[in-house]
Amino acid sequence: MVENIKVTFLGTGSSIPTARRNHTAALIQYKNEMILLDCGEGTQRQFRKAKISMGKITRILLSHWHGDHSLGLPGLLSTMIMGGYGKNLKVYGPRGSKKKMRDFLDLFGIDPGKLRLEVFEVEDTVFFDEGDFILEAKSQDHSCPVNGYSFIIKEKNRIDREKLAKLKIPNSPLIGKLNMGETVEIDGKKIDGKKLLYKEKSRKISFIVDSRYNENAIALSKNADLLICESSFSKDEGDLARDHAHMTSKEAATIAKKAKVQSLALIHLSQRYDMIPKKILSEAKETFKNVIVAEDLDEIIL
Ligand SMILES: [Zn+2]
Ligand SMILES: [Zn+2]
Repeated sequence: MVENIKVTFLGTGSSIPTARRNHTAALIQYKNEMILLDCGEGTQRQFRKAKISMGKITRILLSHWHGDHSLGLPGLLSTMIMGGYGKNLKVYGPRGSKKKMRDFLDLFGIDPGKLRLEVFEVEDTVFFDEGDFILEAKSQDHSCPVNGYSFIIKEKNRIDREKLAKLKIPNSPLIGKLNMGETVEIDGKKIDGKKLLYKEKSRKISFIVDSRYNENAIALSKNADLLICESSFSKDEGDLARDHAHMTSKEAATIAKKAKVQSLALIHLSQRYDMIPKKILSEAKETFKNVIVAEDLDEIIL
C-alpha cells in the first residue's frame, strides 16, 4: 500500500493578512512525520480550524524570518509546551536562524528547556536523508537569506503481495529475504525475489516563497509532483515584483514549466488579488495548465 502524503494549506496570504487568507504556512503529513513549512502569525489558530494537532509536529522548515513567515512561532511553541510536547522538535532555517530563534525565545519568555528544540542552519544541501525521505534546501533570491525546500520520498522496491500470496510461502524469515530481492529455496524450489519486486516511484513536493524568479527555484523543484510557489504579483507588475524581491504569476508558472513539475499551487497572493484569484490563476494557466490558487485550509493528497 502506498502511504499518502497530505498537504494542508494553513495560510495562503502574503505580508498583510485578509479575512480570507492567513499568513504563510503549509503542512506536510506523511506516516508519523508532520512537517510545518513556515509559521506566519496565527498559524496555530489555522491548526485548530483544520482540526490538526500541533503536538504532532516533528519538524519546522522556515523559509526566512520575515514576520509573515515566522511570527506564529512564539504562540505555536508556547501552546506546544502547554500541551506537554514530548518529542525532539527540529527547526531548520537559513543562516542566522540559531540567533533569531534564541532572540524569539528570549523576547517571548519561552523556556527552551521545556522544548527539546534543535535549530539547524541549512543552505544549498540535502540536510536530511534517513528512512524513506529526503529534505533539501536551496537558497532563493529575496531581500534576506531565504531557503526553498523539497520533501522527497525516495523510490523504493515493494514486494507484490498478490504474487507472494500465490506462492503460499509460510510466514518465515524467507519472506524478509524475498523482500530484499534475494533468491531463496523452499522445498527444493528456487524463488527469485527480484521477480516479486516492483518499483514504487519517488514523490516530491517543493516549496518556494518570497523570492524573485531564479534558476535555483527551477533546480530545486525539478520533476516535483507538486510545486507550492509564491505568486505575490500579477504578470503586469514585473518591475514591482523584482523591486519587492517577489514573483509574478507568470514567473511562478514558468518555473513550474521549466522544472517539468506535475502540478502547481500558488500561494502568498498580495491582498489586492484576495477576491480575484482568478486573475492570477488565468495568467499562470497561459504558461502552465495544471495550476490552482490554493485557499486557506485546502488539502492536496499525493
Ligand atoms: Zn512573505
Ligand atoms: Zn519575505
